[in-house]
Amino acid sequence: MVWALIGASTIAGQYMIPAIRALGSDATWVVSGSASHGASFAETQGVARSTTDLSEALADPAVSAVYISSTNEKHHAQALAAIAAGKHVLCEKPLAMTLEEAREMIVAARDAGVHFATNHHLRCAGSHRAIRQMIVDGKIGDVVSVKVSHAVSLPEHLRGWRLDNPVAGGGVVLDMTVHDTDTVRFHLGEDPVSVVAETAATGMGAGVEDSAMAVMSMPSGVQVFSHVSFHHPFGKTAVEIHGTKGAIHARGVIAQVPAGEITLVTEAGEQEIQFARHDLYEQVLKEFNAAVSGAAHSGATGEDGLKSLAVALAVREAAATGERQYLNYGDHS
Ligand code: NDP
Repeated sequence: MVWALIGASTIAGQYMIPAIRALGSDATWVVSGSASHGASFAETQGVARSTTDLSEALADPAVSAVYISSTNEKHHAQALAAIAAGKHVLCEKPLAMTLEEAREMIVAARDAGVHFATNHHLRCAGSHRAIRQMIVDGKIGDVVSVKVSHAVSLPEHLRGWRLDNPVAGGGVVLDMTVHDTDTVRFHLGEDPVSVVAETAATGMGAGVEDSAMAVMSMPSGVQVFSHVSFHHPFGKTAVEIHGTKGAIHARGVIAQVPAGEITLVTEAGEQEIQFARHDLYEQVLKEFNAAVSGAAHSGATGEDGLKSLAVALAVREAAATGERQYLNYGDHS
């Protein structure tokens, strides 16, 4: 697979280029809004060509897939252009700024016969695969509640558009509630039907929230609590899943690296659970490549990205109005 990178971003440089290369593929283009930033990114990262003209990279017949990691408001137009050029697309979360845009991306990819996926990396982690397997195997009985603690400190080098640019899709809800949502949907195998929420702007930035607490109701009756924040310098991530016969306590598993510990607690006592510690982004790409070759996609699809976006937008609306929001994922058939 030969990739073009759309967006000269931190995640592309830090995680995705190494993952692409680890799988024996290469990224031969980077597309950036800034010629100088794109050129310096290309040089630092060893990417052969940089351009500010997306169509130039898309016109390269050697490029079979694009990875979009620009700021969030650009994902929609860039994905549509890539799809129209016949490229497979791995797009960062949130897929888009609105559900209508996300739907348009999914439908365009389907009509063009290209693969379209969302980079929700957590469901590709060995830790989360192990948690899901325990739930499926009935180790904790029927799930009754899930608590996700995702309140941490936004690293200094990422304190740009996320904190002060609502137009670019800043704010912790579009950044992190989407990941919590996808992870919980993956564990439970069902989609939230409604949410209540509060958000807060604790002074880190301007014009967007930096913290949010949301309660999601699932069709089965499971209650889900998600706490996200950029502004908890002493925070650690955790996922607790409580069931009728036991509980899963996972610490440090909401991460970009294969980290954390999982404890299964039942009447029999406490058991440390071992899990595969593969690179999360390599796994995303392996499953993307497999899907391009016709296998079922076990990573996050476009529909998964649409659903996490729908919940995030509902969380914001619930916080703004003080009213429970009911999810309508719409029809993108
Ligand atoms: P960055 O702020 O690093 O990059 C976003 C954009 O900002 C780049 O595409 C680039 O614009 C511009 N930019 C960055 N640095 C410079 C610079 N020095 N000079 C000029 N422009 C610059 O964002 P992230 O890498 O943190 O996030 C990018 C996307 O990836 C977002 O959609 C985010 O939600 C997602 N993300 C996903 C993660 C995951 O694990 N799935 C983790 C982190 C982020 P241009 O496009 O013009 O090159």
